[in-house]
Amino acid sequence: MGILDPYKGFGVTFSTMFKKPTTEQYPEQKKETAPRFHGRHQLNRHPDGLEKCVGCELCAWACPADAIYVEGADNTDEERFSPGERYGRVYQINYLRCILCGLCIEACPTRALTMSNDYELADDSRNDLIFTKEQLLAPLQAGMESPPHPMRLGESETDYYTRDPDAPLPWQVGGSPAGEADEAGEAERAANKVPAHGAGSERPR
Ligand code: SF4
Ligand code: SF4
Repeated sequence: MGILDPYKGFGVTFSTMFKKPTTEQYPEQKKETAPRFHGRHQLNRHPDGLEKCVGCELCAWACPADAIYVEGADNTDEERFSPGERYGRVYQINYLRCILCGLCIEACPTRALTMSNDYELADDSRNDLIFTKEQLLAPLQAGMESPPHPMRLGESETDYYTRDPDAPLPWQVGGSPAGEADEAGEAERAANKVPAHGAGSERPR
């Protein structure tokens, strides 16, 4: 260390005293994040409302913080939550453990799991920071129907998965997918606008 180094250090402190302070007016004014900021997770849906998650648990295995808990279950013809064989019956993310690293979304084979820009994840209850599937599921958009219901994007799995994403949806050319579905979807859309923390399923952790 040179003889002038302590004075250089004090110089930094001294010059900082004359800089304009940066004051964030949070929470009144929320700062916009970078577009690819890693925030709260979201479980996405197909255009007909079925869930993209197939309950494979790859996200849970990829998580270095052991923050994800998944239990898969079989779809049946009577009760279908996702296209294909399986769906995520229980899905939880423990935000007390999550470090928002994004490894889980890289591991997901169906792009069911993505991350939003929502960073408001503080709470005064440990229990409320374990988010359930109901809280993480994306809200129903117009034309979507709340599962369980049959696959509505074509007659076969090939039709379902290989359809042109820009092509009009079947019910946009031939009416609603299920007339009554839109009403049910409307109720769930309204319910999903404000996720109810702590609502829902069992919490085994
Ligand atoms: S963002 Fe990282 S820590 Fe959080 S759940 Fe995903 S893999 Fe785990
Ligand atoms: S979110 Fe993706 S990786 Fe995780 S269980 Fe569902 S499909 Fe598998």
